[in-house]
Amino acid sequence: MYQRPHLFIEGQWLAPQQGGQFEVFDPSDESLLARVAAAGPADVDLAVGAARRAFDHGPWPRLSGAERASVLRRIAEGIRARQDELAVLEVRDNGKPLPEAQWDIADAAGCFDFYADLAERLDTDERPVALADARFRASVVREPVGVAAAVIPWNYPLLMAAWKVAPALAAGCTLVLKPSELTPLTALELACIAAEAGLPAGVLNVLPGLGGEAGAALVEHPGVDKVAFTGSVPTGSRIMQAAARDVKNISLELGGKSPFIVFADSDIEAAVEWIMFGIFWNQGQVCSATSRVLVERSLYPALLARLSDAASQIRIGNGLTEGVLLGPLVSAGQHAKVSAAIAQGLADGARLLHGGERPAEQAKGWFIQPTVFADVPLHSALWREEIFGPVVCVNPFDTEAEALHLANDSQFGLAAAVMSADLERCERVARKLQAGIVWINCSQPTFSELPWGGVKRSGIGRELGEWGLDNYLETKQITRYESGDAWGWYLT
Ligand code: NAD
Repeated sequence: MYQRPHLFIEGQWLAPQQGGQFEVFDPSDESLLARVAAAGPADVDLAVGAARRAFDHGPWPRLSGAERASVLRRIAEGIRARQDELAVLEVRDNGKPLPEAQWDIADAAGCFDFYADLAERLDTDERPVALADARFRASVVREPVGVAAAVIPWNYPLLMAAWKVAPALAAGCTLVLKPSELTPLTALELACIAAEAGLPAGVLNVLPGLGGEAGAALVEHPGVDKVAFTGSVPTGSRIMQAAARDVKNISLELGGKSPFIVFADSDIEAAVEWIMFGIFWNQGQVCSATSRVLVERSLYPALLARLSDAASQIRIGNGLTEGVLLGPLVSAGQHAKVSAAIAQGLADGARLLHGGERPAEQAKGWFIQPTVFADVPLHSALWREEIFGPVVCVNPFDTEAEALHLANDSQFGLAAAVMSADLERCERVARKLQAGIVWINCSQPTFSELPWGGVKRSGIGRELGEWGLDNYLETKQITRYESGDAWGWYLT
């Protein structure tokens, strides 16, 4: 069992002031995995104070972009140097299969390298702007927002940390990172790696803790300038309200119920593979998961048969066992939530084709079979609400217009996908889908270079790419008057 009794504040490992702790469990067998320090409001105050000092008086925001980039690259190297250990820790904490965890860790390192490159570009970022009134000279500069609070979920513990920490550091911000109480372990390792990479004390503070305590105290803290949140819609909405009081800069990456439109001219094998990847990857605990599939009616029966057959072949088990493609859900609570959604779907009249149960061979652990529903009533929670588990809903459509209507008839707008041999049709449909991310003839590939985020209740703002850096930068105009008196410019 791991013992993590300390918080990482101002470059030091400190015990929580109120002595709080929480327990973390291995989802594959429900055993106790770790006891972890729980930050309380006094610790949040200390950590925000440290981040504030590091921002207001420390070297980090005053370094050149190139100097910050070299630290970011050393963090990337540090992650890679410990890749195997971090991947195993992620599996034990979150439950995902090892190859997925290895991919996450490599991607987290790549994210730091990507933002190192963007940090360098900030050195030449100042942009002169030509004005119609030639008596003025103007330029636009970008500056770090200040102290950022990063609050992240449990589905990609280290990767979600990287998506926030890397751009914030590149911009010159300082941070307090609060990982999910379900999966805090790799964020604590990131604190060690960042310190070893030479990040000055106070620039990155890591506070494991409960959402309603550490999380709430952090987002409400007046010393925080920016709140970057990834998580559920209800928490995002609460955070927005808390941030409103001080008019804090916020970005929210929230939930989804992403549609995948499959036209009848698609390759059925490719369609089934992308659907499986889209909904069973990470046990479906993916904000952009392919949870609603719309299939053109002539292909519908064949696709349903092929999909449920493929789902029945998936090997389920402990993520550390070779060949396992589906691990357990992250927690007892998530298992109960997904089980309840399945039961409600059945009660609402959806047709269960495969799964829906705890696998018989897994006596312990929060496992759920890969689950395929067809003919799902359009008003049901199964079709409309985010389930965040390995549960796919498939419905038929007759026309392109109907497919678009069904796809867009959702409170969410994170991701969507379309598959057809007719690329012109794909491009046309892509432009009409109400989502921040649209995939053509695939589903889920994610790149550090491209913006990530949604419309409607899926959130506000974009992470990743140059857009992700913008989250942590303020834009300032500097305008110089070259001649004349005050009233002169106005009256003439
Ligand atoms: P959650 O909202 O329960 O928790 C997210 C984080 O917020 C955790 O660290 C939690 O401790 C903290 N928190 C909880 N209450 C808080 C409060 N009152 N104030 C401040 N912080 C608080 O979400 P979750 O269950 O951890 O994650 C699953 C959700 O995350 C899903 O809805 C999923 O779609 C979403 N998600 C979105 C993206 C995206 O990029 N859009 C990516 C991953 C996950």
